[in-house]
Amino acid sequence: MSDGPPSSKSELFADRAARAPWPAPGAVVLETRQLVRELGTAVKSRILHGIDLTVREGEFISLTGLSGSGKSTLLYLLGALDRPTTGEVLIDGIEIGGLDDDGRAELRSNKLGFVFQFHFLLPEFTVLENVMLPMLRRGARTTADATAHARAVIASLGLGELTERRPAQLSGGQQQRVSIARAVANDPRIILADEPTGNLDSKNGIIVMDVFERLVRERRITIVIVTHERSFASRTSRQVELSDGRVIADLDQRQLL
Ligand code: ADP
Ligand code: MG
Repeated sequence: MSDGPPSSKSELFADRAARAPWPAPGAVVLETRQLVRELGTAVKSRILHGIDLTVREGEFISLTGLSGSGKSTLLYLLGALDRPTTGEVLIDGIEIGGLDDDGRAELRSNKLGFVFQFHFLLPEFTVLENVMLPMLRRGARTTADATAHARAVIASLGLGELTERRPAQLSGGQQQRVSIARAVANDPRIILADEPTGNLDSKNGIIVMDVFERLVRERRITIVIVTHERSFASRTSRQVELSDGRVIADLDQRQLL
């Protein structure tokens, strides 16, 4: 990762010209079939109107659309944080409708990493402990192994000096990078991010996008990111646009960079 955003337009252009092609998409990791979500009890309103979406390994997808178009609703369904009204969501081939709450929690822990607009770091724990917690909960690593792995991931995001700090002692950009470290450390197949740059200034927003891009290119993690920022959406390998709960555009951008 570069230390910061490009400082001039020509530098940005040079960076793009030097950019390697996106990895070719691999196996299907996420799929929705005729996904419908209705909300409300007395009066039902249809939030998603039968969405069919196929996401492959190594794709970096931006989900765009006006406020209220259903982006968060779709992302929560893709992350098994919610259940569809009708239709199916398959995560790595597993249909979430067939799972109870424990089954969905286990699936999330094993396959998914989440990054939200607000970092949700635990204030009483250090950076290192926050990054270790999902690994310890998952139980796939010993404490010693989890500690070493957490330190390595934190350092790879440029936060090596901050492991013993608490979240309140960090800047907004640092907090968001810690929340990405927490998601990444658990070795997810897929990262789902809901407006992760929404609370950041443009410099830190670019740093966060750089981190995501590196995860896709170097580790073939699949990332779906909700964003309002045109310039960020244009950096992804595929742009999916929602309007009133329907996909109105699905643009392969792998050739554009
Ligand atoms: P986005 O993330 O694109 O801004 P959301 O997925 O949050 O959109 O919301 C889509 C629509 O669903 C909006 O019209 C919103 O008002 C509505 N909505 C969201 N949550 C609820 C809820 N708990 N009850 C009723 N309507 C909701
Ligand atoms: Mg939203």
